[in-house]
Parts: sequence; C-alpha cells; structure tokens
Amino acid sequence: MPDRHVESREQVTMPVVFVGHGSPMNAIEENRWSRGFSNLAQNFGRPRAILAISAHWYVDGTFLTGNQHPQTIHDFGGFPEALYQVRYPAPGSPEVAERVRELLAAQGATLRLDWGLDHGTWSVLRWMYPDADIPVVQLSIDRRLEEREHIANGSCLKDLRKEGILIVASGNIVHNLRDAFSQQRTGRFTTPDWARQFDEAVVNALETYRTDSLLALSATAQGRMAHPTPDHWLPLLYAYGAAEEGEPLNSPIVGFDWGSLSMRSIVFGSR
Ligand code: ZN
Repeated sequence: MPDRHVESREQVTMPVVFVGHGSPMNAIEENRWSRGFSNLAQNFGRPRAILAISAHWYVDGTFLTGNQHPQTIHDFGGFPEALYQVRYPAPGSPEVAERVRELLAAQGATLRLDWGLDHGTWSVLRWMYPDADIPVVQLSIDRRLEEREHIANGSCLKDLRKEGILIVASGNIVHNLRDAFSQQRTGRFTTPDWARQFDEAVVNALETYRTDSLLALSATAQGRMAHPTPDHWLPLLYAYGAAEEGEPLNSPIVGFDWGSLSMRSIVFGSR
C-alpha cells in the first residue's frame, strides 16, 4: 500500500518568497523584522533545499554556488564585531546547483566555488531556519540583463517549486540608502509619500500580475527614488517570474525601517 502521506508531500508546490532584508543588524537583533523572518517559514512546509537570490551577488553573469559547504560571507563594513562572528553553516547542494544550471542554461549559467552565502541570504535564513540544516544554493543576478530578462530567468525556475525547493529572493521594495542614512543621522524617521506610494503601487501590480505596470513603475520618478541602483529591486522580479499568474500572494511582513526602507516581504502561492 503506498504511503499516501509521503505521496501527497511530494506533490506540494512550494511557494516563492520575496523577503525585504534591510539592515545586516537584523541578523543578530531581535526586532519586529527578525521576528517576522522567524514566523515566515510557518506559512508553508519544510523545503528539501533553498535557492536564494540575493541583491548582494550582483555581478556580470549568472552563477550558482556549487560548494558542498558554502562559506558565510560578511559583505559589509562598519558593523559591530558580533555580526562578523555569525556563521550560517547550512550545507550547499551541488546537485541542486546543477539542476538550476540546467534550467538557466540559455543564460550560460555556471557553477562557482568562490562565493558562498552573503548577508542578503543568511541574515534572513538564520531566523527562518535557525538549525541551518536545509541545503542552500545561491544564484547571482546578472547586472547586464534587462528587467524582462530577470523575470524570464525567474520563470525558468518554476519547476523547482514542484521539486520541494523553496525560492527565497532577498532585496527591498524601497531601498534608498542616502535617504535612510540621512534620516538615521537626524534620528527622526518619517516615511516619505514617494516611498509609501511606490511600495503600494508595486503590490497592486504584483497582485494583478500586470508585468507592464510593474516594469513601468521602476521607470517613474518614484521608482528612481526608490531604487537609485537596481540591485535590491531585481530579486523581486525573480520571485514574480517564478510565480504563476493568478496565484494569491500575501505580505506577512510590512512596514518601513529607517523611514524609507521598505521591509515588506511577500509570499506568492502560499495556502
Ligand atoms: Zn541589502
């Protein structure tokens, strides 16, 4: 008699998660954001592996971490020593990396051993999966591509969801550090209208799966304010691409840190 429980588990399609990671300090501080990261994983079943797409691996090419044991990369400066002591010792998975490489073969995706998990990934995963016992592979963002090509790349990843692999794209829907740091200096945090309006407009475009509207947003004056550089915007396009049109989405974490930094996280396709 077949084990129905195992059978049904294998058929579950994993959701796609976009997470607003914000400050690296969220990795070690217990605050509303890190508590949100802890609760995120309770929205769905345990994945067999994670494919992370971080704003902080933004390079000339499509690469995958092929390491058995990816290192924890501390890709920031000027933070307390405790942050540099953090390790996230999740195993890698050359097998999953190879599977993703196949899916992105048209992009010339290749495996690399000289990267690991950067803070866009581990500052969130250490709250979502503190035991670090789920294999993690990281995918780079090719900065030479157009926005539509990033969505197409995300679309190529859809089958992973049926294979028990959780896609976690990590960026921020509004990420203007000049504005955030100037607010931090004054110690008075207010969320500007352009930030709130952009954050809400993005969600409206996502909910209706209107790609043209979504891409038009980043070209507006608000979009340029929200993203002086596109690195923290593009992970969202991978998550969107990996979602099926019409899938429900929800935002288990919303709000702004440092005034204008949107911490919104979105889960596509969770029941
Ligand atoms: Zn970041």
